Amino acid sequence: MNQRFVGKSRVIAIANQKGGVGKTTTAVNLAASLATAEHRTLLIDADPQGNSTSGVGIQRETLDLSLYDALLEGRALADTRVAAVHLPLLDVVPATQDLVGAEVELVGRPGREQALRRALQDVRDDYAFVIVDCPPSLGLLTLNVLTAADAVVIPIQCEYYALEGLSQLLNTIKLVQRNFNPSLAIDGVLLTMYDARLNLCKQVAVEAKEYFGPRMFAVTIPRNVRLAEAPSFGKPIILYDVQSVGARSYLAVAQELIRRVERAQELSHPPLPALPPNALSMPEVPA
Ligand code: ATP
Ligand code: MG
Repeated sequence: MNQRFVGKSRVIAIANQKGGVGKTTTAVNLAASLATAEHRTLLIDADPQGNSTSGVGIQRETLDLSLYDALLEGRALADTRVAAVHLPLLDVVPATQDLVGAEVELVGRPGREQALRRALQDVRDDYAFVIVDCPPSLGLLTLNVLTAADAVVIPIQCEYYALEGLSQLLNTIKLVQRNFNPSLAIDGVLLTMYDARLNLCKQVAVEAKEYFGPRMFAVTIPRNVRLAEAPSFGKPIILYDVQSVGARSYLAVAQELIRRVERAQELSHPPLPALPPNALSMPEVPA
């Protein structure tokens, strides 16, 4: 087992409440890239849509146990794992339809924000990285993930409304830091579906860089049809088309993440300034 991070695992939430920005694509392919780089990795699907689960080829109908059982039925998270999915160092905790009810069922539980943190305690040190795919909302499931995580990676799609709503996510991160998880960090902001030919993309990149500064990943993920095709074959991109630009980009993101964590770069960043109410709205884009 490769545990270069002084025996400490890093739990990373892939979060953005906006739908379809590349959370699942990032979770699956970052996890697979980290496992390929010989870091033992656990991918947790915390989205009732179960796209990470099906994206790695796990048939949801055949599962006896899933994340739901660990969050609400008192099962050990270890029992819900599917081991060595495609890669020897990649394990997956899948999501099934049951998870739809978890948001509502958790409400009445004591310590309702801490269910995932508790469930992770016994397994997190088996891994160098735990990557958690969040649903497109800021409900109790996402709150559980942020409370359990050491850090957040925020994918941003290069589109007109890319940065709108981000202040809501950043406020939620602050709320979690204040109330449940003071050491929650932002490990990186990742531009997805980038098309260098479009002015709009360039402008989103400039504006995001202006605000997030060194938190931006230097690597961006280009729009690449192979990335969109891979889930229908139940495979991470590196096993579907390792030569594709999508595969190479996610391998590069994994390397950048590993370097960031190793240097604990986040610790030296100044805190983000407060957001004025209309910050992060897009400027006019020339036609
Ligand atoms: P949701 O909010 O519904 O969970 P999401 O944020 O997880 O969505 P994805 O499912 O990863 O987003 O991506 C949305 C769609 O865009 C998918 O069809 C996916 O295959 C496609 N996609 C993601 N990244 C890329 C990319 N870099 N190039 C081309 N297609 C992409
Ligand atoms: Mg998703």
